[in-house]
Amino acid sequence: MDRENLESKFKRMQLAYRNLFLGSLELLELNSLFWTEKLLLRLVNSLSRKRLQALKDVLAEGGDNEDNVLLRENMMEAQVVAALGGHQLGSWETAEEADGYQAVCLICDGSVFVSEKTIYSILTDSCTG
Ligand SMILES: [Zn+2]
Repeated sequence: MDRENLESKFKRMQLAYRNLFLGSLELLELNSLFWTEKLLLRLVNSLSRKRLQALKDVLAEGGDNEDNVLLRENMMEAQVVAALGGHQLGSWETAEEADGYQAVCLICDGSVFVSEKTIYSILTDSCTG
């Protein structure tokens, strides 16, 4: 398998693991599952986190400033939407495994994830705090 094929394979794996990571995170956030399911999802979550970290290292690319601008825009947008819902976001923490940042509401524990490409919010329309 040549380098290009390998890279495209890794990228597809990355996408799949990212979906697993975010999907398991969302199901755990919903918090309405049997404990056996939660256990399984935590396993999926931690496995996909490790795989994403490894893939990120393999696929490591040079610094890209344009992405940083998009990232900051997405952070701003997420903060504005959160504030409108009465949420109080804590500081942004690196979520390296998913190639982005995550912030948690200090009142209701809901979380929002941003990368240069996506905003993924599990915050309710209005804060329950
Ligand atoms: Zn909240």
